[in-house]
Amino acid sequence: MEDVWIMDSGCSRHMTGHRKWFSSLNPVSTKEYITFGDNGQGKVIGVGSVSLSTKLSLREVAFVRNLGFNLVFVSQLLDEGYEVRFKKGACCVLDARETLVCSLLPFGQVFRVDLTSVSGPACCLVASPSADIWKWHRRLGHLSFDLLVRLSSMGLIRVLPKLRAEKDLVCHPCRHGKMVAASHIPVSQVMTSYPGELLHMDKVGPARVASVNGKWYVLLVVDDFSWFLWVFFMEFKDEAFGFVRDLVLRFRNESHKAMRAIRSDNGGEFRNSRFENFCRDLGLEHQFSSPYTPPQNGVVERKNRTLVEMARTKLDEHRTPRRFWAEAVNTACYIANRIFLRAFLGKTLYELRFGRQPSVKHLRAFGYKCFVLKKARHLDKFESRCLDGIFLGYASSSRAFRVWILEAKQVVEIEPLHQLQLLPPFLRAQMMKEDPCPWLPPHSPNSKLMQRLDPLRTQGR
Ligand SMILES: [Zn+2]
Repeated sequence: MEDVWIMDSGCSRHMTGHRKWFSSLNPVSTKEYITFGDNGQGKVIGVGSVSLSTKLSLREVAFVRNLGFNLVFVSQLLDEGYEVRFKKGACCVLDARETLVCSLLPFGQVFRVDLTSVSGPACCLVASPSADIWKWHRRLGHLSFDLLVRLSSMGLIRVLPKLRAEKDLVCHPCRHGKMVAASHIPVSQVMTSYPGELLHMDKVGPARVASVNGKWYVLLVVDDFSWFLWVFFMEFKDEAFGFVRDLVLRFRNESHKAMRAIRSDNGGEFRNSRFENFCRDLGLEHQFSSPYTPPQNGVVERKNRTLVEMARTKLDEHRTPRRFWAEAVNTACYIANRIFLRAFLGKTLYELRFGRQPSVKHLRAFGYKCFVLKKARHLDKFESRCLDGIFLGYASSSRAFRVWILEAKQVVEIEPLHQLQLLPPFLRAQMMKEDPCPWLPPHSPNSKLMQRLDPLRTQGR
């Protein structure tokens, strides 16, 4: 087994128990243990790089005492920019340019790396430089490569590394999502002087299909100063008032500076007595864009287009069913606030709103399959320790992740983050082969099952 590398989707990282594979190895100071299938444990002694061939180098490989196997963690490989393809008779690993890196051969119930399929001994010790740019491109909502490189060089976002420009990178989901650079009308000045002075709002919808939680409309609100975005999902148009009222009241609590105005179009959901009374009571001006000159509400309409394009690309990437559109729009909004800049002010929308730089450390790629670990004390001995889920983005008000639990057919919010283990999407593709619709498992929703998740709560969206 010493010379066999097994592809594994269930472990937590690349790992080996054999020192000879490392081209560089650094000892670790923290006490970290890996639990084996037989419940034994192995201490992580070091972390380093392993070169399996000229084309395949693994970074961050754990050197684990007493581990008899060499494991390649599929998800980590994808994060490094490789693609893993499982097709009948042609299983392989490809690099970002879709050239063959190595073949995979059946090995019992699993697959192993075919080290004879790649030429020459190890000599290239670093992974493809494009690996990072692909990882961040996916995590940051398929932001264009040029913008990504520029953004990474500005030091405005915590954790985002400096990325190098690569020639001829083509992303297929981006092409499908038709994510062209929007022809933004240049904004030559900032008309307001603090967050919350003026809020733009617009209603989008109805969508063609209802979201998983029965929503048809999106209310999009944009702060004129920071361009910070909020999205709210509605079953009926007239729910808009409640969301706007709560947001305005929140702003008034947060800041001593007075909110001056809100701006919307003439839609019935905005032009009604409830809005009129509310604005009068708070001394707010309600500005309406003229029905014949939509550009007056241009800020919110441009933002709306950007979010829809980002959401479409996200759904496209792993063919996530359309009824998850609200989750995709919510994720797009979450990312946009953290990566888009207000050019004239030279800061991200997030920093303008909250006064500190955003972090992108916790971002993950939308639509990935993931495991959710169950609360151990409620489980009987032979019950599975985890549930299958699909990663659907971020909770609005906390650092929790939103996950669709396949068996229970519910969206839940999960924290802390280590409860979640992300798997690459190809596993879902495998399931789809056997089961024509993995999204609708044959079980009915199981409320007992939901109670076992810790600490979870269900959330409508
Ligand atoms: Zn893309």
